[in-house]
Formats: sequence, C-alpha cells, structure tokens
Amino acid sequence: MRILVVEDEPGIAQFLKQGLEEESFAVDVAEDGNQGLDMALTGEYDLLLLDWMLPGVSGIEVCRQFRKSFADTPVIFLTAKDTVQETIFGLQAGANDYIKKPFHFDELLERVRVQLRPRSGEHEQFTLGNITLDTTLHQVFKNGKQVHLTQKEFALLEYLMRNKGKVCRRTRIIESVWDIHFQYNTGIIDVYINAIRKKLDLQGDEDYIQTVRGVGYVVRG
Ligand code: CA
Repeated sequence: MRILVVEDEPGIAQFLKQGLEEESFAVDVAEDGNQGLDMALTGEYDLLLLDWMLPGVSGIEVCRQFRKSFADTPVIFLTAKDTVQETIFGLQAGANDYIKKPFHFDELLERVRVQLRPRSGEHEQFTLGNITLDTTLHQVFKNGKQVHLTQKEFALLEYLMRNKGKVCRRTRIIESVWDIHFQYNTGIIDVYINAIRKKLDLQGDEDYIQTVRGVGYVVRG
C-alpha cells in the first residue's frame, strides 16, 4: 500500500515516512500544496496524509481538487486546527478523518489502518496454493502454519498476491512497495523474492512466483 504525505515541516514528514515504512507501507513525501496535488493526481496512492497549512495551495484546496478525480481514496488531515467549525470545514472538503497535532504515531497508524481496512470488517485474505496472506492480521501462513516475513517481504508478497495472475512490472513493484526514489535499483526485488521463496520453501510445483524475463514477476496458484 502506498501513502502520500503532504507536509512542509521536514521533521514531521521524515518522522511519518520512517514510521510508516517500518509498518511496510511505501511512502512518498510532497513538501508543498502544488507538488502534493500533482503527485496525488497521478492516482498512485492508496491514502493521503495531508497537512492543512501548506505553502502554495492549502491542504483544504488539495483535498477539494483531489476529490474531483478520486472519490474513494481515503484522505486524513493532519492539523493543529481543532475548533469544531474548522473540523467541519475539513470534512466538508472531502476528508475521511483528521488527526490533531501533536499526535501519537500509534494513533495515527491505527487511523490509517482503519481507513484502509476492507469495508466488510472481515479479514482480508489472499491465497496462493497452500499459502494464505492475511492483511488484517498482517501474517502469512503455509499449510496453516505461520511463516515470519520481514515488513518489506510481506509488502512485496502482498503486492504480488493482490495482482495474482497479472504480470507485475519491476517499476510498478518498486513504486508500490518501496518508493519512487528506488526506481533505478529494481534489482533489489530479486533479493527479496529469493528470501520469500526460501522462507516459504517455494520450489518445484510449489514455486508460485514466476520470473518474466526483462519485465518482472507474476504469481499463479
Ligand atoms: Ca504546515
């Protein structure tokens, strides 16, 4: 899952990027409203974390413009503004939630997860042969037995399983699992694929991850 953080205070932006990456999200940062809006409108993001007070276009305006093209992508405001009137204003602009600064990272993370949770409230699971990946529990099982993956391994496997049967291009994998600055180092994917194969003991008929030479990977099973 890929998150766009639009935040002009470098300390907060970096803190969010690092924290969310440790939770296996891919995170890009925009430093002002114009850049944030341009990036958001690429449609590459599963969620926006949007500061209210930004140089250039305000967070409110970014949200309004974004909503014209993307009705369903969750937007969470980060704001020092907390009067009732201003909160209503933010929600009317199309935000799904808001978090008051200063905030605790754990609370922010929980609110992000709530927005990204499947609407049914049930566990979101993907299967691949005898492998089950549960995004709600954030766990992977083989034949019902839990296998421990690192955050990035989990994120990579989740991405491939979400796109089961489709050829996933290296650049798209990098964009979704790492971030845009990794574009020229797509070789890192192979290292992680090998680690996943090893941990899940994928071999012979059970090697569900196929390499598409010169393109990327596809999982089938
Ligand atoms: Ca600000």
